[in-house]
Amino acid sequence: MRFRGGFQASLMKGRAAAAIIGLMDKNIVSYRIDASDRIVEASDSWDVFAAENKAPRLTRKEVVGRFLWDFIEGSDTRHLFRLMLSKARASLSSMRIPFRCDSPEARRFMEMEIRPRPDCSIDFVCATLKTEARTPVAFIDPDVDRSNEWRTICSWCKRIKMPGGEWAELEEGIRRLDLFGTKRPPRMSHGICPEDQEMAYREMESAEKAKRKAA
Ligand SMILES: [Zn+2]
Repeated sequence: MRFRGGFQASLMKGRAAAAIIGLMDKNIVSYRIDASDRIVEASDSWDVFAAENKAPRLTRKEVVGRFLWDFIEGSDTRHLFRLMLSKARASLSSMRIPFRCDSPEARRFMEMEIRPRPDCSIDFVCATLKTEARTPVAFIDPDVDRSNEWRTICSWCKRIKMPGGEWAELEEGIRRLDLFGTKRPPRMSHGICPEDQEMAYREMESAEKAKRKAA
């Protein structure tokens, strides 16, 4: 894996260096945004990842130069993520978010590290921790036709919001909603489940604490 602009060297620094070196043999995708949230570079592994994730049009060439916010769906997700980035920049402390980046055929368990830099740019280092094959789930296939119904999915854990308000694992929710085998699954909107909101606030709090300690 190669990174432009000495990015690989900078990957080795910081408090998570040991963890990242340990994951070097696994799939790591990283990218950097500048102070205005524009994506300024992305690792070579980006294109492989995009193809595997059924987003072959989102090549590195396509994303570099664009704003991060063009790629984050859902106003709640955007709001929370903006808050996290501003806390990261203010505290200069890293944060970690476990998240799912599923494709229709696979559950992909990932972790994102947000690493603020003194010039207000931010590195994102995303590691795939585990991948599980599964029976393809049409609901998250970007290429299928949709009905006029809507269902909300959590941007981070990919659970689906049930009519009663609770969040269910994708397959379980789809089974309970009787969506397996439907030719036209509902449309998908993106939200953030309460557990992930809490996790984000915990990360922001520990970044604040780390800053106070360092001060
Ligand atoms: Zn969630």
